[in-house]
Amino acid sequence: MKIYNTLSAQKENFLPPGSQVRMYVCGVTPYDESHLGHAMFAIVFDAVRRYLIFCGYKVTYVQNITDVEDKIIERANTLGIPARALAEKFANKFFEDMAALNVLKPDIIPYATEEIPKMLEVIKGLIDRGHAYVANGSVYFRVKSMPDYGKLSHRTLDSMKSGARVEPGEEKEFPMDFALWKAAKPGEPSWDSPWGKGRPGWHIECTAMALKYLGEQIDIHGGGQDLIFPHHENEIAQSESFTGKKPFVRYWMHNGLFQLGDVKMSKSLGNIVTIRQVLEKYSADAFRMFILGSHYRNPLTLSEEAIEAAERGAERLRQALANTGKAGSEKLDATTYRQKFIEVMDDDFGTPQAIATLFDLVREINRVNEKGLDTGEARATLKELAGILGLTLEEPEQTADDAAPFIELLISTRKKLREAKQFQLADEIRDKLAEMGITLEDTPQGTVWKRKK
Ligand SMILES: [Zn+2]
Repeated sequence: MKIYNTLSAQKENFLPPGSQVRMYVCGVTPYDESHLGHAMFAIVFDAVRRYLIFCGYKVTYVQNITDVEDKIIERANTLGIPARALAEKFANKFFEDMAALNVLKPDIIPYATEEIPKMLEVIKGLIDRGHAYVANGSVYFRVKSMPDYGKLSHRTLDSMKSGARVEPGEEKEFPMDFALWKAAKPGEPSWDSPWGKGRPGWHIECTAMALKYLGEQIDIHGGGQDLIFPHHENEIAQSESFTGKKPFVRYWMHNGLFQLGDVKMSKSLGNIVTIRQVLEKYSADAFRMFILGSHYRNPLTLSEEAIEAAERGAERLRQALANTGKAGSEKLDATTYRQKFIEVMDDDFGTPQAIATLFDLVREINRVNEKGLDTGEARATLKELAGILGLTLEEPEQTADDAAPFIELLISTRKKLREAKQFQLADEIRDKLAEMGITLEDTPQGTVWKRKK
């Protein structure tokens, strides 16, 4: 198997030291509903993880929750609730959305604020080794102490320096130095440290959690391309300076960014399309096929036509599965399709070609079905290979409520009873419906009903 490694900027043979694959993917900073950019990284690395498991690796997948960060603090202060409560609420929603997208849950989900002791240990170690310094209650990483700083983003300190700026109140030795620990400010959550009250910088979180849960050298580290610099560059600097071991990460994988039309997917622009909004209209299979229909390193632009095409594609796969064929007759052999699927996935997770292979197999299943051949094994292969991409190929749940006509009937009966002044019977209908979780509300436009969640 070959994986494109951002560090070497080329495809490399994937050779982990054993059958264990330790994988870390930067998680979300939950302060609002999850948007499509979140779905992109989650589905990409879910497919990577599922394929590695299919190949026989034992994968340990860690994905953190950043629950202390400027945007969380700001939003929590506006709402007048603790930052942690806000983060937890939207983190739970994120994992609900992920479950709806058939994304496997990470094996370990560390919350930054629960990992402060490990962060303090790493920061202390970096100060002891001369890689970090204290200034005014904050601690900064000294980038000049690391000769190969910039190796992931393929830049030099000189080229970065021109774009760097020092925020007011920061007392850095050098503009590119970055905060490991930020001295407490009023109105912000803070923790005790040897340098006074404060909170951790963002980059140190991932270093501490990766070291704690996966060890000093990990196999795959993933995230969006927007994290290469400075976040992942700084993770390398911290981790390798602390442990003295290189490389911190054997394979750095970065997915292309999700774009909404011509505008980059970003919360600050306010053009959010949430995962929930998409799943109201399309099946999870269709959305996954839309995401995986493009190679993960390419940027992906949201397009209604493309998701609709993916929905029709998903329906074709489902129909082929439902095609029962003729058991006992000559069998359709799907081995070549299986091999093709593995071959394209082995080449840096070629999911677009993998999906194309599924369609080739479907075409063959449909063709031989007409001839009355046994497609049982071929259909099992289709289901198995689709599963590696996280496609369930199950009929999407009916969005329309099957009970709706009956509820409408009871509502009109209740109306007639009320008109006939049979209030007791009318109330009984309302109460019985309420027991079943259906609430009625009488409005000037008539009675409306809804299901309690
Ligand atoms: Zn991270």
